[in-house]
Amino acid sequence: MVAANWKMNTLPGGAGTLVEAYGAEMLCGHPELVVCPPFTHLATLGPSLGNAGCLGAQNCSEHLSGAYTSEISAAMLRDLGCRYVILGHSECRLRNPMESLRMPEKMAQAIANGLTPIYCCGEDLPIRESGAELEFIARQLADDLPNELKLNAQNLVVAYEPVWAIGTGKHASPEMAQQMHVFIRSRLMDVMGIEAERTRILYGGSVQGNNAAGFASQPDIDGVLVGGASLKPADFRSIFEAFARKGS
Ligand code: PEP
Repeated sequence: MVAANWKMNTLPGGAGTLVEAYGAEMLCGHPELVVCPPFTHLATLGPSLGNAGCLGAQNCSEHLSGAYTSEISAAMLRDLGCRYVILGHSECRLRNPMESLRMPEKMAQAIANGLTPIYCCGEDLPIRESGAELEFIARQLADDLPNELKLNAQNLVVAYEPVWAIGTGKHASPEMAQQMHVFIRSRLMDVMGIEAERTRILYGGSVQGNNAAGFASQPDIDGVLVGGASLKPADFRSIFEAFARKGS
């Protein structure tokens, strides 16, 4: 999977143009392309993606419906044609101290409404520098993904996104990411059993055209979640091609 997180960029009118600039080969279904634009672009972007490219949103409410001004429900996203929703992105966790506490309910809402969460986890720099990253990720997974969610390889995609690598130009080395992906898979194995072997674990954090092949070469890196570079079609195409080669 190669997923684009456009964050709060582009206007609705430019969204179709950006997808067109990605090129037709990206819409052929391998690797799976997921585009996560701002909410306001979802309704119009679905048709530009055709049948193979998938639409994703950048967050959803933990509630089904009701008096939650400004929130968007998982059912609304599904109704607009979304198949995926990014949950637990560090930019949301950092801006909103309640975000992490809401993760189990958000995951449950997404899954109950037919969306597959692209669930983000990752440590910040002080934790990495203190060598406590494995304990931190184990805690984050245990807090956010309780057993009741009944996770499987279809209703969960995990994105390992070290906070210190997001939008900083400083990326984890492919070996560092591989080591963490193996660890994440082993923790998923505890709650999902054998399904964890088929669960896609993406790396995210300053992935660019010139470093994507390194990530693609690692056996447990099943794709990438790309922020800044997904707004640059040529760069994004190189990333996509690196993962297309991995699967061929
Ligand atoms: C992201 O926003 O999920 C991300 C990985 O951003 P960037 O690629 O810009 O680091």
